[in-house]
Amino acid sequence: MPAVNTQAFGRLITLEQSLDHLPIGITVFDEYFQLIAWNKTVIDILRAPPEIFQAGMPISEFIRHLAASGFYGEGGNEPLTTQRLQDLAEGELTREHALNDGRILEIQGFRHPNEGYIYITQDVTAQRQAESANKELAAIVSASEASILGLSPDGIITSWNAGAEQLYGYAADEAIGQPFQLLSGNPLQSESQELIWRKVLRGERVLQQVAQRTHRDGHTISITLSMSPMFGDDGAVIGVSGVAYDMTERLLAEQDLAKQRDELARLDGQKNRLFSIIAHDLRTPFNSLLGFSEILSDHAATLGPEEVSEYAGMMHESARQANGLLETLLEWSRLQMGGLQSEPRPFDVAGAIDKALDFNATVAANKDITTERLESPLLTAFADPRMVETVLRNLIGNAIKFTERGGDVSLQASRRDGEIAISVHDSGIGIPTARLTKMFQFETDASTVGTDGEKGTGLGLQLCKELVELQGGAITVESTPGHGSIFCFTLPSAI
Ligand code: ADP
Repeated sequence: MPAVNTQAFGRLITLEQSLDHLPIGITVFDEYFQLIAWNKTVIDILRAPPEIFQAGMPISEFIRHLAASGFYGEGGNEPLTTQRLQDLAEGELTREHALNDGRILEIQGFRHPNEGYIYITQDVTAQRQAESANKELAAIVSASEASILGLSPDGIITSWNAGAEQLYGYAADEAIGQPFQLLSGNPLQSESQELIWRKVLRGERVLQQVAQRTHRDGHTISITLSMSPMFGDDGAVIGVSGVAYDMTERLLAEQDLAKQRDELARLDGQKNRLFSIIAHDLRTPFNSLLGFSEILSDHAATLGPEEVSEYAGMMHESARQANGLLETLLEWSRLQMGGLQSEPRPFDVAGAIDKALDFNATVAANKDITTERLESPLLTAFADPRMVETVLRNLIGNAIKFTERGGDVSLQASRRDGEIAISVHDSGIGIPTARLTKMFQFETDASTVGTDGEKGTGLGLQLCKELVELQGGAITVESTPGHGSIFCFTLPSAI
């Protein structure tokens, strides 16, 4: 049946040609290790002299050639050849070889019982290089302190290194397979995460973005995050890599530093204020004290009783001013040095108001200002009465100082939201709206002279604020320029 034979022969030819085009080399040896068949590829891969590709060629010729190409490592060709032949006899057929020319060849041998041996030779250089590069990269990724993770395009975590475990608190097997939303604990975090995610899916990179995420144990962490899309051959995003660093401690340290800087600036401002008060404001009353007392001592004999009384009155006023100033200064600096401890106890609010009104009675009378406590319920505060009186004295003093002659000042205490609220009203000059918000801040130009030219320090309100806050209360101010001001502060109630 010649037709059948022709067909079979044709098929063989086709098969042979196909084998020649395969990217793997094929050599077939008989049971005596003599060459029977080979394809073209093996000639290229082995780079062996063509003359050894002849039927019947012993495998030792190949091994000799391969030994010379560095197949079997360092050493003389003959000993290497002998060794390899021995290995073959013992049945060791498959090996990978690093060649002198830098290529890596893998030779796999298959034995057919009693029939011979087939060797498949592949150039695996690129594959091995890629594998070792991958291995190196994987080692770098896993050793990295940074958190590195991989995501699929649908947002599922696909890889997770030790840094990520450290940063977010999830072990790799807890995180891998989860959606990335696992890492955002609140809507705000999710929103920023979604924004970044959409950008990366569009093929853009997001670099060094500061973000907030949630640790496995629930606490918020600050991170800098870079995310990059990974592209497939067709340009589509096939995955996303994310690298993050923990910024929590750094941000906290920066916040701490900023706080310290503000505190230093505040202290520096206070120091300057103190020096200017001592240098200027305290000197003024002492100068007039010295001046009038000098006149009195030098000319007492020649002065009439009215003059003596006038000078004595002026001296008294200067001494009173200096004393008031000193009191404020001392109390304020004791407070700054932490030496003033609040000793809260229950006390009658109306009594404290009356005492402070009494203290300011002469000054009010001198300016023809009516002061009064409006009808208030019986209220017992739980606070340090000395400190509260200092606050009241200062606020009443200011109310008188900034009210024209003939005006009035009134105080009222009431219960408000479980607390006690005490307000000091005056019908004075008021405070410009622009200054109102800064009333309790430490400002260098905080002080203005009173309606009778009374001088101040600008420390009084600062002191009041600190004393009130020490009691757990708060102080506020309302004012209409030209119509008066209301200073109000709260205290904890004893009942
Ligand atoms: P001083 O009264 O010694 O200047 P304060 O801290 O007590 O310092 O007050 C700061 C400034 O606030 C005053 O100089 C004044 O400009 C303004 N001020 C305080 N109380 C009143 C008030 N009742 N009416 C108008 N201005 C006031």
